[in-house]
Amino acid sequence: MLGAILMNWIKNSLSNKVIMAVLATNLIVFLVFGVFTTSKIRKILIQNTKEEIHKEAKIMAHQLDTFFANNSSIVRHMSIDKDLIEILKTVKNKEGKFNHPNFREVVAEFKKIKKKNSKISLVWAGIKASDDLIINDYDWAHDSSYEMEEMNWYQQMDKNRKLTYSKPYIDQVTGELIISIVEPVYKDDELIGNVGIDLMIDQVKDLIANYSLRETGYAVLITNNGDIVYHPNKKKILNQNLTDFDSTVKELVEPMVSGNSDVIEYNLEGTDKYLAFAPILTNGWSIGVVINQQEVLNEVFAFSKLLTIIFIIALSGLIILTAVIINRTLKRVSKLAAKMNDFRDGDFTTAIEVNSNDEIGQLSNTFNQMTTEIAAAYQQLEAYNQEITELNNSLEHQATHDPLTKLPNRRKFEYVLSSELIKERKGAIMLLDLDNFKEVNDTLGHIYGDQLLEKIGERLLELSAEENFVARYGGDEFLILARGSNSISNIERKINKIKDVLADPFLIRSNEIQISFSLGIARYPDDSTTTNQLITQADTAMYQAKVANNQDYLYYNQQMVTKIRRKKEIRNKLKVALKNDGFKLKYQPQVNLDTGKGEYFEALIRLKEYDLSPGQFIPVAEESSLIIDIGRWVTEEAIKQLAILQESEEVEVKISINFSVQQLNDPKYIDFLKETLNKYGVDSYLLEIEITESILIEKEKKAIKFLNQLSDIGVQLALDDFGNGYSSLSNLSFISFDKVKLDKSLIDRFLKGDNIETIISLIQLFHSINLPIVAEGVETKDQYIKLKKNKCDYIQGYLFSKPVSNTKLKSLIEINYIKRF
Ligand code: C2E
Ligand code: CA
Ligand code: CA
Repeated sequence: MLGAILMNWIKNSLSNKVIMAVLATNLIVFLVFGVFTTSKIRKILIQNTKEEIHKEAKIMAHQLDTFFANNSSIVRHMSIDKDLIEILKTVKNKEGKFNHPNFREVVAEFKKIKKKNSKISLVWAGIKASDDLIINDYDWAHDSSYEMEEMNWYQQMDKNRKLTYSKPYIDQVTGELIISIVEPVYKDDELIGNVGIDLMIDQVKDLIANYSLRETGYAVLITNNGDIVYHPNKKKILNQNLTDFDSTVKELVEPMVSGNSDVIEYNLEGTDKYLAFAPILTNGWSIGVVINQQEVLNEVFAFSKLLTIIFIIALSGLIILTAVIINRTLKRVSKLAAKMNDFRDGDFTTAIEVNSNDEIGQLSNTFNQMTTEIAAAYQQLEAYNQEITELNNSLEHQATHDPLTKLPNRRKFEYVLSSELIKERKGAIMLLDLDNFKEVNDTLGHIYGDQLLEKIGERLLELSAEENFVARYGGDEFLILARGSNSISNIERKINKIKDVLADPFLIRSNEIQISFSLGIARYPDDSTTTNQLITQADTAMYQAKVANNQDYLYYNQQMVTKIRRKKEIRNKLKVALKNDGFKLKYQPQVNLDTGKGEYFEALIRLKEYDLSPGQFIPVAEESSLIIDIGRWVTEEAIKQLAILQESEEVEVKISINFSVQQLNDPKYIDFLKETLNKYGVDSYLLEIEITESILIEKEKKAIKFLNQLSDIGVQLALDDFGNGYSSLSNLSFISFDKVKLDKSLIDRFLKGDNIETIISLIQLFHSINLPIVAEGVETKDQYIKLKKNKCDYIQGYLFSKPVSNTKLKSLIEINYIKRF
């Protein structure tokens, strides 16, 4: 837990890591160094202390040695004094009287000695002859045998026969602590007495009893048999012998009085002590200096404590210093990072102030160089980018716009439409196709065709607004997206607007060109919700509008598709028929009402294999170029038939063929016709070509030229289906027709009841310009009678014959149809 927190703390900050490292390193250094130093210091301190006390002991021993040696020499000197010895021998007579004459001199001598040496409290001589007699410097002799005998050392001295030191003791007279130095005096190997001095040892006391070392150090002086002469705790242990103490202390006696000097350790009442001792050679005493081991160790401990404190202070300082350095460093790093962030965020002018040459300074320098370089590169890049953007924009514009009209193109339209569809709103798309653009192109040339498209584009662009989006779909087709509503009224309003916009003629190469168009409408979401499908549907509707008569716009519906599919089927059948001789012609007679004979036979095309009427498949053929090949086939087949008839029949039979407006797109037709007539050797006047008025309405100039060429060849021209649709008599004036065919609808309408007047007028009118009249679709005798009565020239219809195949044609030629009534 704590470890995890610590790890986290270390992980999260660089400074923490460094501080931790400093701490750890210092701790290790401290532990190693501390333990090492402490043990070393301990050794040194103990050694020093030992040496110190040893030295002190030696010095004191030396001093005492000198002291005792001086005084000893006084005593020795006394002992070898002949006069003194003589006196000692004789000083006491039998009567116990001091009778020696020099007694006074001896005392004077003693006084002299004492005077010379202030530490001597008494100079005396004891006389063996009477043990109890002592002469001293007090100027009198007294009996003191009782004292002497009690003294151990004194007894001992006699035995040893040499200079002896007494134990310290309190002088009964002066109360001073004294010792006695005594030497026995022999004469002729006979002990005659002893000389001695009582010595005040306050000097020793000064030296030893007042001696102290640090806290626990003290000195102790013992005699050569372990009696304690001086000890700081004098009262307690005076007159004790070291052997009176416990065993450890007892054991000290032997080394101390051995005459050697050393330092040893021992234990006194549970306290470990160091003892340094040195012998006083003069009297074999020993001086010891004692100190508690603990005190030395305390010093070591105090040193360790000091060391720890110094370490802690140093460590704290180090950590603070480290922290400060890291902090300063990190601040600079942070500053660097901030600058880098600025740089990342696009501020390429950013730079770091460099005022140090350390690593961060170098890094900063590098950063500054880098930013300068990148800023330059970036500027370059910006420039490129701008170029590319411009290029892109222009490419984008090119990709989404039509270069000619400047309108959006199909792609753009699809994009706009699909984004509109995503919004799930209502709307419609309209596909607008110009009706007569090909003609403009053909007659004025492509350049002017393009001009027209450009101008149409300009006008349509006026419609482009929030609601509408106009694009060029391709060729002469435009797409209009009507957003917001798909109600019929709304769409119709828009269509009217389109009509308005395009109503005024366009001035192209000083030609006023009026355009019309077909429009297909597909609505979303009703018809579809996909871009492609909607465009296809609008295209379908447009196409249906185009092929439908009098419909300039159509809404897409499902049936259109079936219709188209059906047309496709028919187209395929026609293609196959063209390839495999799948067509045949049937012939229907046009009966001359004067002769009753079939004079003209109208060739009507059939499919051999299929029960499809030309009314069904011819419009399909007309919508494609198939009508051209079919037309040529019919032409050749009819001419072939004419050639056959020409050879076999005595009577002249003529054949009419139907000519579709779309066949005007067969520029070589005239040549073909001439060649075929030549090929089969058929006179051109035997062939009649039936043409509907629509040919003049749609492509007037071309048609007139064409019809004139036909006339030139010598074929006959019949105006077919008169009275159906656009009949206009004006056309008749400049085309040299040979015949007019009244449409079945006219016959049906006006031969009922009392409606005959119209027919009568028409007949009169055509007769006035010398045009014979054919009534088509005559099915009843009544119709025949009425027509006959009103001078109709020919009748064609089921009343006389249905169209028949060429094999039956011969039999029809012979029939007189009128006679049969
Ligand atoms: P159309 O030129 O008006 O031809 C006359 C049509 O009226 C023929 O229909 C004919 O069979 C039909 N008919 C004749 N008498 C009567 C009658 O008494 N009652 C009724 N109900 N119908 C009668 P068909 O053969 O089905 O041809 C239809 C149309 O197809 C033709 O109308 C013509 O426009 C076109 N067509 C036929 N053959 C050709 C051809 O070879 N080339 C071209 N371009 N069009 C053709
Ligand atoms: Ca016809
Ligand atoms: Ca007709």
